Amino acid sequence: MAKCVKCEKPILLIKAQDIAIQWGRQFNWIAYCCPLCDTVLSVMIDQIALKIDTVNDTIKWLKGF
Ligand SMILES: [Zn+2]
Repeated sequence: MAKCVKCEKPILLIKAQDIAIQWGRQFNWIAYCCPLCDTVLSVMIDQIALKIDTVNDTIKWLKGF
């Protein structure tokens, strides 16, 4: 069974939290945290937000023509 790296309690549920990362511009990411001690276990780009941003940027680019 998976255990938290900090509190070492079994992890039966992951708490997800929106975070922003600055890298030239701001991107939406998700932090996956232990629900018991809030330790960040992993971070990953928010695929849904990335898809929406890509569509919006493409529409903005197309309107430039
Ligand atoms: Zn923990």
